Formats: sequence, C-alpha cells, structure tokens
Amino acid sequence: MKPTIIEARLLDDMERLPVIDAHSHLPIERVRLTEHADALTFYRQYTRLVMFAAGLDEAEFLRMHDPETPLDERFDTFERYYEVIRHSSAARSAAIALGRFYGEDRLTRDNFESITARMRRLYQPGVLYRTVLVEACGIRAVAQNAPPDESDFDDPLMRVVPMIGLGGEWNDYNDLAQQLMTGQIAGEVDDYLEMLRGRLRRLRAAGAIAFKHFVHPYRESDARTARHAWESLRHGERSAARSSVANPLASYLSDELMTEVARLGVPLAVHSGVWGDFREFDPQHFIPYFQRHPDLRFDLFHMGIPYVRAMGRIAANFRNVWVNLCWAPTISTTMAAHALDEWLDMVPTNKIIGFGSDVRWPVEKVYGHLTLARQTIASVLAHRIDRGLLSHGEAIEVSRRWLFDNAAELYALRATDERGPSQQFPCANGPSLSRQASAWRDR
Ligand SMILES: [Zn+2]
Repeated sequence: MKPTIIEARLLDDMERLPVIDAHSHLPIERVRLTEHADALTFYRQYTRLVMFAAGLDEAEFLRMHDPETPLDERFDTFERYYEVIRHSSAARSAAIALGRFYGEDRLTRDNFESITARMRRLYQPGVLYRTVLVEACGIRAVAQNAPPDESDFDDPLMRVVPMIGLGGEWNDYNDLAQQLMTGQIAGEVDDYLEMLRGRLRRLRAAGAIAFKHFVHPYRESDARTARHAWESLRHGERSAARSSVANPLASYLSDELMTEVARLGVPLAVHSGVWGDFREFDPQHFIPYFQRHPDLRFDLFHMGIPYVRAMGRIAANFRNVWVNLCWAPTISTTMAAHALDEWLDMVPTNKIIGFGSDVRWPVEKVYGHLTLARQTIASVLAHRIDRGLLSHGEAIEVSRRWLFDNAAELYALRATDERGPSQQFPCANGPSLSRQASAWRDR
C-alpha cells in the first residue's frame, strides 16, 4: 500500500508501539516446530477461504499442501487460484509477510525452494517466535486459543484462553448433542454442568486469562426446560440437537457457564460472524447474555463481519462488551476501516481492541496481519487528522489504546507493558539464544 504522507507518519510511530496479539491459534513454539512448513504455508490458512470461494475443492487444497505431491502439480493449483485471489486482503497479508522476511512479494516456481530453505533456518527453537512475534511485530503477549497439547501455562509469551468447554475441547454444542443421543454421557444436566464448572476453575487456577465461546441464537430457558431438552436428546429426539437453532439446553448451559466465568473474574472471548452460514454467528444473538451478565466482560471477535455496524452499536450500548478487530482487516481492510471509522463516532476508545492475528500455521503472517491492522487504523485516523478532527499525537494515543492498552487491561496483561524481550524470555540474553536470533537476522 502506498500511504499518504499523514498515514506514513502515523505508521512510522505506530510501529514503535508495543502490541498485544489479542487472539491467536498459534501453538507454543515447540509444537509448531514439529509441523511441516514450506513456502506454500503462506497460502494455507485464511487465503484458502478465498480460494475455496473461487472454486478450489478440499482435495485439491490438501494436495496443494502435501509435501509428498510433486512441486509442479502443487504449483499449478496454487497459480490457478492465486491469479483470482491476489487482490484480496488475505493475499495481501501473505505478500507483506513474504516481503518482510524473504524480500519477495509473490511466490513463484523459481523462488519456492529458496524461500523454503530460508524458512528452515527461521523455524528454529528460540528463534522463530522471537524473530517474528517479538522483534518484527513488537508483540508483548499473545492471547492463545489452542488445544491443551498445544498450550503451556508456563510459556512467558503465549497466555492461554481455553474454550468454555461445551461438548468437549472443541466447544461444539453439536458434539454434546451427539454424545447425548449416542449414550456417551451418563448422568444429568446438573452433573455435566458441575463437571464443566470444575474444569473452568482448574484452568483458571492454572493461569487461563479468559475463556472462549461462540455466538449462537439465544432462547430464554431455565433448569426445568434444560433438563427436559437433555432427556429428549437422550431419547433420540433431535429438537435441541443443533446450536444453529435457538434451543433451551445450549442457552441454559451457556448461561450457567458464563456465571462461573464471571465469578472467576476473567473475560469471555466470543467468536462472532464470518464463517459459513454466518447468520448463526450474528453478534446480536448475544444481547440477552450481555443483559443477563452485567459483571461478565465480553470480547466480541472479528468485528462481527458482516454485522459490523450492529456490533458498533452493541459496544456503544453495553458497558460490559468490548469489540475486537482480530482477523477482520485480513478479511477486508476496507470493511474494517469503514466500520472502525463509524465506531470511533460512537464507541469509547477504551472499548476497541485493534489487533488479533488469528494465525495458526504461517507464523510469519502474524506480521502481515498486524501490518494490515496498522494500515486500517492509520487510514481511519489519518482521514480525521486531515480534517482537523484530531492531532497526530492524539492519533498515536488512540492507536496505543487499540494495539496494546485495552487488551492489556481487559486480559490483565498490563505487566507485559514495555517489557523487553530479555524479561519476556528469561534466557533471551543468554549467549545461545541471542546468537541464534542474530544469526537469523544476518541472513
Ligand atoms: Zn480464531
């Protein structure tokens, strides 16, 4: 992107601000390093959604990322779809990351091997996350939503946000309904709830900084109707079998678990919008929960895309709701910028969280996603500076709230403020680690 003069000055100062990645699926580094990575990994995660929309099917996608498949064949597929996705925000984030770490703005048959070889040198213990997350991005803490075997409560950088746990670790109510219908769950709804409450308490004691849930249609409920739905499912009746339809069991369990999360004093992160039949994830479904749980702090994700305008109103009307740009600029920088501009009109600046990468596989793309988030913020604030609505200094103050302060307050990560890598990584100044890190930089 070619910034205007005002944007360029803002971006220059914004790059010096500390950052919290307020939503990520990255595993801890040790786990990530056991997984395959090559240059096509840059096009594995959210770019795939644009490719799917263009016609790519699941089998082609898997072959494209299968290192056992001949490179020519993998590239034929990639090139065919790259041509039609290259103008998307998702593809832009890949190009930005390729440029930052490998000096290339697009992947070709000719540079694939050399980029992959250089990736191998970056994907080293003590080097990968430090180089990409800490040094390139200025990230002080990552709010990490990952399965238990990909998390470590002692990791100094990755702070764990487990699922609230309905139906199991993947938090899928539909799994719970299936388990009930197939007799895999014994006991009553109250026993199940007590088990889940105990799990939340244990995870919080271990160091969880929040829990995560998904938006779903709400239905007024109480213990009696929930017990009835529980019994119906056990008898094979499917009336409460899906979370996409407002049902009393999903709502009752969510209500009870939200009460427990509020008691534990941590926020509830909530996926909203984006996926598949996105009507299911309309953030407006959660309004009754915001009202019923005034002491629970909700962090609504992904700008509720495409319900960005409704989400702004939610943050304006409910003091216990924060709104989070995570992933949104990588879906559409334009939609994110327009929405953010509207939000600034009506949402206090302490309620907006400006960055969450939402990255899982292509670690370098955290930088690409962050760059798009910074550009989005800069475009909105520069426009206002241009019209005399705020000064450069005020714009940087707002940026700092959105990139660091608000997430630090909400997730109690204030202690990470201004901490350099040497404190984040107790051994970071030790000879081996710093030598490895600078060796990478010199390449
Ligand atoms: Zn996510």
